[in-house]
Amino acid sequence: MSTMKGSIQVNTENIFPIIKKFLYSDHEIFLRELVSNAVDATTKLKALSSLGEFKGELGELFIEVKADKTAGTLSIIDRGVGMTAEEIDKYINQIAFSGAEEFVQNYKDAGESGIIGHFGLGFYSAFMVAKQVEIRTLSHKEGSVGARWTCDGSTEFTIEPFEEKTERGTEIILHIDQENQEFLEDSRISGLLGKYCRFLPVPIKYGKKTEYIDDPSGEKDENGNVKRTGIEVDNYVNNPNPIWRKSPSELKDEDYKAFYQELYPMAEPPLFWIHLNVDYPFNLTGVLYFPKVKNELELQRNKIQLYSNQVFVTDEVKDIVPEFLMLLHGVIDSPDIPLNVSRSFLQADQNVKKITGHITKKVADKLEELFKADREAYQEKWDSFGLFVKYGSVSEEKFADKSLKFALLTNTDKEYFTLEEYKEKIKAAQTDKENKVVMLYTSNPKMQAPFIETAKKRGYDVVNFDGPLDTHYIGFLESKDSDLKIIRVDADAIDKLIDKGEKRESVLSDAQVEALKNDFTGFINNENTEIQAEPLSPDDHFITIIKPEWERRMKEMSQMGGGMDFYGMMPERRVVLINTNHNLASRVEQLSDAEQKKAFLSQSYDLALLSQHMLEGEALERFIRRTEEMMK
Ligand code: ADP
Ligand code: MG
Repeated sequence: MSTMKGSIQVNTENIFPIIKKFLYSDHEIFLRELVSNAVDATTKLKALSSLGEFKGELGELFIEVKADKTAGTLSIIDRGVGMTAEEIDKYINQIAFSGAEEFVQNYKDAGESGIIGHFGLGFYSAFMVAKQVEIRTLSHKEGSVGARWTCDGSTEFTIEPFEEKTERGTEIILHIDQENQEFLEDSRISGLLGKYCRFLPVPIKYGKKTEYIDDPSGEKDENGNVKRTGIEVDNYVNNPNPIWRKSPSELKDEDYKAFYQELYPMAEPPLFWIHLNVDYPFNLTGVLYFPKVKNELELQRNKIQLYSNQVFVTDEVKDIVPEFLMLLHGVIDSPDIPLNVSRSFLQADQNVKKITGHITKKVADKLEELFKADREAYQEKWDSFGLFVKYGSVSEEKFADKSLKFALLTNTDKEYFTLEEYKEKIKAAQTDKENKVVMLYTSNPKMQAPFIETAKKRGYDVVNFDGPLDTHYIGFLESKDSDLKIIRVDADAIDKLIDKGEKRESVLSDAQVEALKNDFTGFINNENTEIQAEPLSPDDHFITIIKPEWERRMKEMSQMGGGMDFYGMMPERRVVLINTNHNLASRVEQLSDAEQKKAFLSQSYDLALLSQHMLEGEALERFIRRTEEMMK
C-alpha cells in the first residue's frame, strides 16, 4: 500500500452528544456557564463604551435569572453586547470557537480584561438540562435587528429575524427536560447562584424578597417605636465587589473581618490574614485567613474557595493546595486557574503548581513580617496557630526552610524563643562532649514534673513539646540542625542526660558493683530489660528506669501513622540504671538476709517504676502491701 496522508474526519452528529455528556462532570454547572456568558457580554459592553467604540447609553447593567414553572423554562437575561445573526452563526454555531477568546485577543492592549470565557464550549452545557434552547438577542451595534436562534440538541438549528426583541442584550431560554425539573425549583436555583455566582462582578437579580422599613405613616406601636412594614424588593444574589479585588490600601481590619463573617457566618473571628495580590508571573488575588487551631480535631479542611475571575470553581482544594495550607480559610482567585472541567486536569496544570508554590512563599513571608512587626502580639497568638506552622514545616519543604525564622519554642516557664535564640540561651549549660547543643523537652509537663524539677536544679532548661505534631517536629528540627540533639527529660539519669564526658569516682568497688547487678538480674529477669550500673551523682536517684529516646520516638511515630510499623510491633525495651554512688547502694550490700535484700531491691525498683507511671495492676497492689509491711 502506498503512503497516504489526510485529515481525521469529525462527524458532528457523533461528537455533539459526547460534548454534552462528558465534557462536564456535573450537570449543575450549566447555570454558572450561562451566567458567566452574561457577565462577559456586560463586561465587553463596558469595555467598548470606555474605549469609545460604543456610544449609546449603558443604563443600569444587571443580569436577571427567571424561572417559569408552568412553561417549564429557565431564562438568563443580560443587557450586554448582544449578538447579530451573523455573530450567532459565528460564535454559537461553531463549537469550540470562543468569542470570549477572540475579544481578549482583539483588545489585549486595553489591559486586564476580566473576561471569563475561554474555550468556546460553555454555552453547550445548556443541553445537559434542556431539551430545547432558545436565544433572543439584540446587538448593541447601531441599526441592528433582533435575532432568534433555536436548537433542540441535535445538530439542526434555526436562526431568524426577531423584531420583538427591542431591548439591547441577550436572553437565553432553556426548556428544561423531564429528568432535570429540579432546576426549576426555587431552592435549587438559589443554591446554585449562591454557590457559583456569589461574587460575580455584575449585579444578579433573582426573584423578590421582603425588606422591612419604617412605616411611611410614621405610626408607633405600643412600645413607642415606629411601626415597620414589609415591602417587596428585587433580590440581588451577589456581592459584585468582593474585597479581594480591591487594593489592600483601601481596606481596614474591619473590612477583612466582615468579609470573613460573610464567608463563614458561624466561625470565630480569624487570627490574621494575608491579602494576595500578584500580577507577575501569573495573575492571582485573594485573601487567606488564619483560623484558630488548637488541636487536630478542629482542623477544618476544604475551607478555601477557588475562583477564576470571580466565578466559583471549587472548594475541594485537596491536591491543588498543599495539605497544610488547607488549614487556612478564604478565597483564591486566578484567571490562570482553568475554569474547568475535571479535577485531574486541574492537578496537572502547570499554573496551578506555580500558584501553590507562590502562596506557600507568601504565607511564610507574612508570618515573618508579623513576627518582626509586633513580637508580643505574635507570641500571644502562637498557641492558636503554632500547630499550623509545625504542620507546614514537617510537610512542605519550601515552607520549612523559611519557618525557622518565625517558628517559636516555649519552655516550661512559658517563655518564647526562636530556635536560634533558644540555642544561644542553653549553649553554655547544655553542650555535650561532642559539642552538640542538647535540648531537653517534656511531652507531658504534669507527668514528668519530677524530672523537669531535677533538670532545672541542675541548671538546665526544658521546652514543651506536648502538641499533637511535636514528635514529627522534633525530627524536623534535628534534620535542619546537625549541631542539635533533642532528648526527653526523662530519657536518662540527670547525670547522663547531657553527657559532658565527666566520669565520677565510684564509691563501690568493681566486685561490689557486679554483686549488685547480679542481685537485680535475679529478680527482674525479663529479656526486654537491661541492667546497667554507673557511678552517678549521689543526688541522683538510686534506680532510674530509662526508655531509650530513639526507640521511644520511633514507636510514637509509628503510632501516629508514620509508616514505621516495624517499630510499633517491637516490645518496649527498658534500661534499669543503678546509681552505685547512691548511699542506698552501699546499704544493699550490707544486708545479709536474702529475703530482706529482695524486699529492699523490689521496693527500690517499684519506686522507680512509680515515678515513670509504669507501676500498675497487681504489681502496684504488691508494692502497697509491701510498703505497709515495712512501715510496721
Ligand atoms: P466562551 O464563553 O468560552 O467563549 P461559550 O460557549 O460559553 O464560550 O460561548 C461562546 C460565545 O458565544 C461567546 O464567546 C460569546 O461570543 C457568545 N455568547 C454566548 N452567550 C452570550 C451572551 N449572553 N451575550 C453575547 N454573546 C454571547
Ligand atoms: Mg462561556
